[in-house]
Amino acid sequence: LITTGCSNKILKSPVPYSKESILDTKVDSVLQLMTLEEKVGQLNQYNGFWEITGPTPKEGQAAKKYDDLKKGLVGSMLNVRGVKDVRALQKIAVEQTRLGIPLLFGFDVIHGYKTISPIPLAEAASWDLEAIKKSAAIAAEEAAAVGLNWTFAPMVDISRDARWGRVMEGAGEDPFLGSKIAVARVQGFQGEDLSATNTILACAKHFAGYGFAEAGRDYNTVDISETVLQNTIFPPFKAAVDAGVRTFMNSFNELNGIPATGSSYLQREILKGEWKFDGLMVSDWGSINEMIAHGYAKDSKHAAEIAINAGSDMDMESSAYVTHLVELVKEGKVKESVINDAARRILKVKFELGLFEDPYKYCDENRELTTVGKQEFQEGVLDMARKSIVLLKNDKELLPLKKSGQKIAVIGALANDKTSPLGSWRIAADDNSAVSVLEGLQKYTGNQLTYAKGADVTEGRTQFIWETKINMIDKSGFTEALAVAKQADIVIMVLGEHGLQSGEGRSRTDIGLPGVQQELLEAIYKVNANIVLVLNNGRPLAIPWADENIPAIVEAWQLGTQSGNAIAEVLYGDYNPSGKLPMTFPRNVGQVPIYYNFKNTGRPVMNEPESVFWSHYIDEKNTPLYAFGHGLSYSKVEYANLQLSSPSFTKNGKIEVSVTVKNTGKVKGKEVVQLYIRDLIGSTTRPVKELKGFEMIELQPNETKKVVFIINEKTIEYFTANRKWEAENGDFKVYIGGSSVTKLEGDFQYSN
Ligand code: BGC
Repeated sequence: LITTGCSNKILKSPVPYSKESILDTKVDSVLQLMTLEEKVGQLNQYNGFWEITGPTPKEGQAAKKYDDLKKGLVGSMLNVRGVKDVRALQKIAVEQTRLGIPLLFGFDVIHGYKTISPIPLAEAASWDLEAIKKSAAIAAEEAAAVGLNWTFAPMVDISRDARWGRVMEGAGEDPFLGSKIAVARVQGFQGEDLSATNTILACAKHFAGYGFAEAGRDYNTVDISETVLQNTIFPPFKAAVDAGVRTFMNSFNELNGIPATGSSYLQREILKGEWKFDGLMVSDWGSINEMIAHGYAKDSKHAAEIAINAGSDMDMESSAYVTHLVELVKEGKVKESVINDAARRILKVKFELGLFEDPYKYCDENRELTTVGKQEFQEGVLDMARKSIVLLKNDKELLPLKKSGQKIAVIGALANDKTSPLGSWRIAADDNSAVSVLEGLQKYTGNQLTYAKGADVTEGRTQFIWETKINMIDKSGFTEALAVAKQADIVIMVLGEHGLQSGEGRSRTDIGLPGVQQELLEAIYKVNANIVLVLNNGRPLAIPWADENIPAIVEAWQLGTQSGNAIAEVLYGDYNPSGKLPMTFPRNVGQVPIYYNFKNTGRPVMNEPESVFWSHYIDEKNTPLYAFGHGLSYSKVEYANLQLSSPSFTKNGKIEVSVTVKNTGKVKGKEVVQLYIRDLIGSTTRPVKELKGFEMIELQPNETKKVVFIINEKTIEYFTANRKWEAENGDFKVYIGGSSVTKLEGDFQYSN
C-alpha cells in the first residue's frame, strides 16, 4: 500500500522491488488520481515575487494566480522566499486543493542566497573543485532554511565572448574545466541526499547554446555547427546529467533556426533520449511565449503545443500551458501521454525531496533564524573569495605589501563600495552588505591609509533596473585623487565594473574600464607609478595599457560578502594567490571571440610570422592579453622533466605522463598544474590545444613534487566526423604547464 502523502488517499500497488520502482509506483499512484486539468497544473510555474507576497490580492493577474493555486493549477512558484511566505503558499496547495500536492519553490540562488560567495566565474578561477562544491553547499543550506527547495543553478553555458554579460554566471570558456565545475556545483547543491533539509534541487541551464549569442548580445541568435555543440557546449550539461542533476532549464535563444524551448532535438533526442535524463525540464522565463516573437509560433496556444511536444515539462511564467494544454489535448494536438510524462517528472522530484512526506520540511522558522548569514557561512565564502583571486602581474614585486611603515593611497569608487562586490544575481542580499576593499585594508593598521574616490563607475541603481549607467563622465574627483596619490608610497587603485554592469541583459561592446576610469588610471600613473591595480569585474576586460604600464595587477572579480577581507589578505600576503583564469583576456574587443583552444587556419602564425598572408589583424596581435589558465603567486614555480611512461597506447590501455614542479621562491604556495593535448590529425580539424587534466598542489619553498596524469581513450575522445564520440588513431602532443601557454611537451600515439 502506498500513500500519496498529503492527500491521505491510499492505493493498492504491486509489491515494489527497488527504490526506483517504489518511487515510480508512488508517482503513478498520484498520477492516477489526477484529472487532466490537475496534471497540466503541475506543469505551471508562476512567479510570485511581486504579486503573491503581501495581502491577498483581489484582482488582476495576482488574483488569478491565487485562484489557480487554490484550484490545484500550479505546480511550482519562483521568487517566493522566506519561511512565512513559503509556508502560506504551501498551505494553500496542501490544504485547499483537491489532492494536496505540494509546490516546488524555485529561486536564482546563483552564488549564495544572503551570504554571497564570489560570482561563479570568479569561483571557477580557483580551479578548486572542493571549495566550489562547498560554496554551493553553503548556498543550498541557506536557501533551504528560507523555504526554498530548488535553485536555478548552475549555469553551465560555455562562452568565448566577454561582451556577453552572463559570462559572470558561468565557469568560463573551457568544456573540460566547465564540466568538472558543473559536477562540483550539482553535488554541492543537491548533496548526497536530496531529501535532507539542507539540500535543494540543482538546475543545469541554459540548454543550449545561450553563451554563443551572436556579437555577444544577450538573447541573440545562435548559429553553430554540430561540432561546436557536441565538443564545446554539451560536455558540461552531460557531466551534470551524469552527476545526477534533477532539473534542467532550456534557453531563450534559437539554435540553428529553432528556439531552444521548442527544440525536440535538444530536449527529447539528446537530453531525454541519448543521455537518459529523467528529471524535469523547465522553460526559461516566458521563453514559451517568446517563440511568437522568434517567428516560430503563431500565438501562445501554438507555442504551448510546440514546447510541450518538444519536451519542455514546466512553463515558467508564460501561462501558456495552464491556459491551453487541456484544450490542445482535447483537440488531439498534444497526446495525454506527453502530459503524463511531464507531470510524472515533476511529481518525481517532489517525492525525491520528501515533500509528500512533509510539505513544510523547509519551513522551520527557527532554522531560518539560526541559519541565514551564520558565521560558518561567512568563513566559507571568505575562503572561496581568497581562492578566486588571480594575480595577473607583479613586475616590481610591489606585492605583497609591507605590513608597516608605508603610506598607502586607495583610489577608486569601487574601493569604497559595499554593494558592487555582491555582483549580479544576488536578489536576496541586502545592499551594502559586503566588506569593501577599504574596510578590508583598514584592518591592517601598520600602514598609513588615505582614500579618494577619483571617479564614479555607475550611478546607484537597484539590480532590477536592467540599464546600468556606464558612461560616467564626471572628472571632478581627479584633483583630490592626484593629491592623495602624490603623497603615497604605493597607490592601490580599485577599478573595473560595478557589480550590475555584468549579468543578464548587460552585454557590452567596449570591454575596457567603464567611464573615465582609464583616464583616471593614466593621470595617477603620471604622478605615482607605484600602482597596484585591483580589478573588480564580471567579465574579462581588455586593458592593454594597464598591462604595459602598471606593475601589479590583481584580478579580484566580484567576490561577494567577504570581498574586502579576501582582497586585503592577498595584498598583504596573508594568502598567497592561487587562482588561474578560466577565460581568456583579450587585448582588444575586436579579437573576441578569443579562446585558447582555437583551431589553426591553413595559414597559421607559426609558419609565416612575418608574412602578410598569415591569418592576422593589421592593427593587433593574435595573442591574448592574459591566456586561459594564467595566474601568478608570490612563489616561483619551475616545471621540468616531462616524461611519458610509454610512447603509445592502444584500446583499453593508458600511458602516464609526469612532470616535476619546484617552488624556487621564498614562500609556500599553490600551483594548478595543467595538462593539455593536441590531436594532430583528425577526421575533423582539431584545436591547437585542449585542457585534459589539472591538479592543484602545494609546495614549500625549495620543495619539488612530481605530478602524474593518466592519458587513456577517454582523454582523446571527441565528436568525430562519424558523428559520435570516439578516439581516433594517430599522433598526439601533450603539454604541461602553469597556463595554456606551456613550454614542456611530449608526443604519443594511439591505435585501437
Ligand atoms: C534567466 C534564468 C533565470 C530565470 C528566473 C531568466 O531571465 O535567464 O537564468 O533562472 O530568469 O529568474
